[in-house]
Amino acid sequence: MRAMVLSGATRPLVAAQLERPKPGPGQILIRIEACAVCRTDLHLLDGELADIPYPVTPGHQIVGRIVDPCRSELEIGARVGVPWLGYTCGSCADCKSGRENLCDAARFTGYTLPGGYAEYIAADARYCFLLDDKSPPASLAPLLCAGLIGYRSLRMCGAARHIGLYGFGAAAHILAQVLRFQGRPFYAFTRPGDEAAQASALALGAAWCGSSDTMPPQHLDAAIIFAPVGALVPTALAAVRKGGVVVCGGIHMSPIPEFPYALLWGERQIVSVANLTRRDGTEFLELASRIPIRTPTESFELGEANIALDRLRRGALTGSAVLEIGGPSARD
Ligand SMILES: [Zn+2]
Ligand SMILES: [Zn+2]
Repeated sequence: MRAMVLSGATRPLVAAQLERPKPGPGQILIRIEACAVCRTDLHLLDGELADIPYPVTPGHQIVGRIVDPCRSELEIGARVGVPWLGYTCGSCADCKSGRENLCDAARFTGYTLPGGYAEYIAADARYCFLLDDKSPPASLAPLLCAGLIGYRSLRMCGAARHIGLYGFGAAAHILAQVLRFQGRPFYAFTRPGDEAAQASALALGAAWCGSSDTMPPQHLDAAIIFAPVGALVPTALAAVRKGGVVVCGGIHMSPIPEFPYALLWGERQIVSVANLTRRDGTEFLELASRIPIRTPTESFELGEANIALDRLRRGALTGSAVLEIGGPSARD
């Protein structure tokens, strides 16, 4: 099968012919239709994640159809999503307390497990989500990380009403639709001068938008930072009211600069979001189909993965970059 493979830090992906994966115990074989590109893939490329097991096939927002359900109860042809969380031990204190996202033995798709920049994947059936059959696969793919991490970040905001979103990329696009559906005003912060992102935030119903170095017109109850920029932490703290929370939604962030304690005083909190639980996935995907969430996408072929990643890095995308993989030529 064709795959795009990373052989070392800061190198471009290379097109490779790999053996089609053979499902192990508990796994199913999936023919991939689409895999969305995530900022985490850039951190992987840049060697910013710990202990990367090269060579690795990136990609953890996978939509595909089952070609071999093996011993699972799933059916041939059923559409499933494969997310970042690919395995947990099921027996540690975190797994047993509903925090499998923090399991020390967890394995991650497109990082410590093979990913979706490929034609096929063998994935543990217990961590796959059944997906709707009718939507185009490319529009479902960004839900599997951008959507899920946004949803988990929102959960960290509790009952907050006025919510700031720092960095208006794929995750914020999706979360904005959830907030609008829930009737919660949101405030979009973009890179200074990014008028395209500000326009799309307003089109999605933002109560206000502006550059990340400005203050919103009113205090926020919570702020979610999707941009991997540590300097936004004190900025967001300054914008949230007493008792408010600043949620860091990314897996990697540049160092957070020193800031005066007064910004944290007043029982403000800073928290991070790590990975996802299967419960997040089930809840969010149900909500996403009920809203329904629409994801603007830009499609690329599998062999164009480096181009898609470069566009994401430069902020030159107008929607989520998605690799469309399962063309007719990939059919069995
Ligand atoms: Zn565990
Ligand atoms: Zn991701």
